Amino acid sequence: MYQQNNTPNQRDVIIIGSGPAGLTAAIYAGRAGLDTLLLTGLFMGGQAATTDRIENYPGFPQGISGDKLTDLMREQAERFNAEVVIDQVTEVDLLTHPFGVKTASEQYQSRALIIATGASPHKLGIPGEEKFIGRGVSFCATCDGFFYQDKAVIVVGGGNSAVEEALFLTKFASTVYIVHRRDRLRADDILQKRVRGNERIKIVWDSIVTEVLGDSQVNGVHLKNLKTGQVSTLTANGVFVYIGNVANTQLFAGQIELDEQGYVITDARQRTSINGVFAAGDVQERILQQVVTACGTGARAAVETERFLAELEDRAYPERT
Ligand code: NAP
Repeated sequence: MYQQNNTPNQRDVIIIGSGPAGLTAAIYAGRAGLDTLLLTGLFMGGQAATTDRIENYPGFPQGISGDKLTDLMREQAERFNAEVVIDQVTEVDLLTHPFGVKTASEQYQSRALIIATGASPHKLGIPGEEKFIGRGVSFCATCDGFFYQDKAVIVVGGGNSAVEEALFLTKFASTVYIVHRRDRLRADDILQKRVRGNERIKIVWDSIVTEVLGDSQVNGVHLKNLKTGQVSTLTANGVFVYIGNVANTQLFAGQIELDEQGYVITDARQRTSINGVFAAGDVQERILQQVVTACGTGARAAVETERFLAELEDRAYPERT
């Protein structure tokens, strides 16, 4: 219904990001009849797609793998004519309207934009971490766990991700050490109970990893006990880092309002500081980074996009809300 003025590379809405937020936005925008393009980023699916089993997304009582859920959401978006293109956005121009979106190979314009670029794993920032990425340091147990059959691995962190992924790693590893900086896990009780019932998992309390050690591959870490100050070495072949996320907002810095931690600031209608630009999912969610909340905000961003475009039919692009 909004397509009449569009050139081939101009869309009603471009969605950046293909996690649950972006895909849900594409389902809603496509179903509303908007000319919708979703640019996936380097990989399809975002962080949820690398999750072995998602147990708390409604409708799947036995759980579902992250990549299967991603496939189903994509299929649903395409059924409603949303175009899904695997491409990485390199630049956006949100200061002119229609907005500009550039990828390595294409240049687009869009009358509305939905930012769903998600968040990426936080790094420890310690010696050896960067050097051994791909050679023992990993941020994705689902991707790399298989390489640690009968080996010892370390998981850093005490939140839901660390504990879930530690449990997953026990399928392969002989021992999984969870190194946590406090004496209590942050993870949900149900996950903590599973950890206590798993004899392959050992928790190293009150400790941080200060250095990743190795030659061609990781062979251990230096630890520091924060209560006693004692320094020790722990032997292991893999280090999986799960200490939270950072919002993927580098593309938008300087153009859109971000909070002090770099998350996009949205109001209750997913609106950002720029008219016609909405944000959904982990890129704007600091409290409850879940598939279900990503889907909810993705849906709302698309509905608000539809409303914005309908209003735009009758007036010029507004400078302010
Ligand atoms: P998180 O909940 O923020 O937990 C991060 C963990 O890393 C905390 O235990 C924290 O310690 C520790 N940590 C932070 N910085 C550290 C540092 N520099 N050195 C050592 N340890 C550090 O992050 P997450 O586990 O990645 O989860 C992110 C979001 O996704 C959360 O909202 C989570 O609930 C959600 N999630 C949910 C599920 C599920 O529902 N099944 C699964 C995965 C993720 P402290 O505890 O001392 O702060």
